[in-house]
Amino acid sequence: MNEPPMNASPRITIAGAGFAAITGIRELRKRLPDAQLTLIAPKPEFVYLPSLIWVPYGIRKGDDLRFDIRPLLKKLNVEYVQAAATGISEDGRVLSTSEGEQQNDTLLIATGGRYIRKLPGIENVITICEGVEAAEKMGERLRALDGGTIALGFGGNPKEPSAMRGGPMFELLFGLETWLRKESKREQFKLVFFTPAPRPGQRLGDKAVDKLLAEMKKRNIETHLGHKMKGFENHVVQTEGGEIPADLILFMPGMTGPGWMQGTPLPISPGGMILADEHCQVQGMERVYIAGDAGSFPGPEWMPKQAHMADLQATAAAKNIVLNLQGKPASEKFKVELLCIIDTLDKGLLVYRGEKRGMALPAMRSLHWAKKVFERKYLRHFAI
Ligand SMILES: Cc1cc2nc3c(=O)[nH]c(=O)nc-3n(C[C@H](O)[C@H](O)[C@H](O)COP(=O)(O)OP(=O)(O)OC[C@H]3O[C@@H](n4cnc5c(N)ncnc54)[C@H](O)[C@@H]3O)c2cc1C
Repeated sequence: MNEPPMNASPRITIAGAGFAAITGIRELRKRLPDAQLTLIAPKPEFVYLPSLIWVPYGIRKGDDLRFDIRPLLKKLNVEYVQAAATGISEDGRVLSTSEGEQQNDTLLIATGGRYIRKLPGIENVITICEGVEAAEKMGERLRALDGGTIALGFGGNPKEPSAMRGGPMFELLFGLETWLRKESKREQFKLVFFTPAPRPGQRLGDKAVDKLLAEMKKRNIETHLGHKMKGFENHVVQTEGGEIPADLILFMPGMTGPGWMQGTPLPISPGGMILADEHCQVQGMERVYIAGDAGSFPGPEWMPKQAHMADLQATAAAKNIVLNLQGKPASEKFKVELLCIIDTLDKGLLVYRGEKRGMALPAMRSLHWAKKVFERKYLRHFAI
């Protein structure tokens, strides 16, 4: 028989309003109808990042991807505090924010990652993953070009192999090529893909890399692989293997942890993420949990930083929070799964990697539609 809850109405604070936070509050509310849930985020807004890749071509507008979370919070009886987390004290029982201190019995950190903008001249690139405005800017720049070279690439975080966003950059590359063809402009453009890794997207698995490279060849996309990045100038990508002159540079730097945790007692991994254990607990801190891109979790080196992973971690964290409230130690682990559809605007390539097996399917029209169906299904949470 389960032990009675320690506290019938525990105060649980959730920091963030992205995938991990939204899944976290839904899973917590399902299991803890009487808990006092408080969500803290700088804006009452959820952004569906996976569809940013369609914004430059007008397939999605910014407002299609930004959602006011307050109706959902009201429905789930979650208090919203408009503030940014700034620090943590008293072993996690106090979260400092830009609007004052928040006491809690349990804390779930879900404040996402940050891009490393250290390379010299990084201001000369567009990083679409930074949000709707960056994706709109890419669209404007594209429409202003009649021809030329577009260089597109991504970097990593050498101290945190999982902290990169290769998938979206492959989507951007193939989508761009499809769009140029549809606009009858492909002949006027040279596309160059660059990355310091000799085999880009290796975490997706060997078969997937072969498929991606074959797709680039088929689409007449040049590659510049295996050369360490040196920096950027206006219209130039600089690498140790030479320079790539370009009229437009689209670059995704590697990721690191959120900036607000610097100088806090939170344990930080060599790559700058918050150190978690296999139960999503912040290492060495009781009843402080973490889910999503902000964390450094134990597991295979190919563990992705993905919305799907953030959801799996947030669900495990919610289950462990309930166990703690019942006076039991955390025991729920999250499944490690890499699942992505690399969209090409009219088709999609499926890549799956699990602990036992992996697969990569060739580009299929149905997978492009599957990505749209998944989007619609997820966004239903906000249609209240
Ligand atoms: C272009 C693109 C395409 C992608 N495609 C896919 C895909 O196809 N499939 C997939 O699974 N994943 C995809 N991803 C990855 C996925 O979007 C992320 O892994 C996911 O958003 C991580 O969720 P998160 O909740 O950890 O962080 P985020 O979604 O980044 O949310 C972080 C939240 O924390 C808030 N916040 C930030 N600082 C603070 C603070 N100090 N205090 C309080 N709140 C704060 C932010 O406002 C935000 O609400 C894609 C990402 C991009 C950018």
